[in-house]
Amino acid sequence: MRIVFGGIEQETNTFSPYPTELKDFTVSRGEEILKSFKGSRDRVPGVIDGCLEHNYEPLPTIYARSSPSGTITKEALDTLLRDLLKGIKDAHPFDGVVLILHGAGVSESHDDIEAHIVSEVRNLVGDKIPLVATFDFHANYTKTMVDIVDVLIGFDTNPHVDMYERSLEAIRVIKRLIDGNLKPTKAFRQPPMMPLEGNTNYHPFKTIMDRVHEMETVDGVETITVAQGHNRPQGAARSWNRERSHLSDTRSGGGSKGYRGGCGERGYVKPRRKNRQNPW
Ligand SMILES: [Zn+2]
Repeated sequence: MRIVFGGIEQETNTFSPYPTELKDFTVSRGEEILKSFKGSRDRVPGVIDGCLEHNYEPLPTIYARSSPSGTITKEALDTLLRDLLKGIKDAHPFDGVVLILHGAGVSESHDDIEAHIVSEVRNLVGDKIPLVATFDFHANYTKTMVDIVDVLIGFDTNPHVDMYERSLEAIRVIKRLIDGNLKPTKAFRQPPMMPLEGNTNYHPFKTIMDRVHEMETVDGVETITVAQGHNRPQGAARSWNRERSHLSDTRSGGGSKGYRGGCGERGYVKPRRKNRQNPW
């Protein structure tokens, strides 16, 4: 099996007067991606190692990352997305797509760049190719993102120490999708109130995550993602109640046994699979 992967990630602070330009991104392309991150327990090596674990061939496209900063210029996003789409196109044929995103990116042209990215990728690859995406714990999820991506997987930790494990999980999940062993039903909840920034080693986020992990042991629950959100993008703030949100989960099975309440029932959060490796 062949898994094409790539990513564009930046956490945007739209109150910053300094735009994020193309030169502000560290960009790796093609085979360079396979070597650049070797040995680290970061997001890219997790995808590569996950593929190798299942004897899948990882097909790198482009990976662009910038430090948190101001709004991304239209030129930067257009250029990076064009290269990502070209990389995916050139990698054809493949069996699945894994994207590495942040979830709180804002550009001059899109106040939800992740929805734009996953939409463009879905348009390119069609509905039959499994598409899994991983996100930061500070993602601002939107219904568009949840609808388009087959399964989205966010970090479980803040400070973030499980990026590598979440990428491994993404490959495990896409394998189940490719093999036909997972037909997910997705659910998305926006609780009316969430704790602000918080460390997942302490209450309240520890309590939330403990509950999430407990909920993940329920039969049929594949994965639950909870996000803290990022409160600095103006666009996200404007659309907070309209679309952006913190909760999503995926249940296998679908149909009448599909997801009905779960995390939303108590305004809860993001889960981790039973077989996830403990990052500490
Ligand atoms: Zn973060």
